[in-house]
Amino acid sequence: MSKKPELYPCIRCLRMPQENERFCADCGTPVQNRCSDEPGILRRGCRFVNPPTAAYCVKCGEPTVYQRNGLIGPLHPNGSKPSFLGFQ
Ligand SMILES: [Zn+2]
Ligand SMILES: [Zn+2]
Repeated sequence: MSKKPELYPCIRCLRMPQENERFCADCGTPVQNRCSDEPGILRRGCRFVNPPTAAYCVKCGEPTVYQRNGLIGPLHPNGSKPSFLGFQ
């Protein structure tokens, strides 16, 4: 039913996770760079699993958990919808 998520080395310590691990055994970092849009009472949430380098969810534009936790910085720190006016 669910397809196997791709495994990447830990973004913080580069340890390679095992298949069923949700957090890095060495440093506690989440193995998957999920969308930070959590399901709530009135919302389904997104929780899309993004590539480890994604600062924003590719499905909905919300910050990913890696960015929320300061593990990666956004390319455009001023918002998820960068203005290309004045782009250098
Ligand atoms: Zn780690
Ligand atoms: Zn999302």
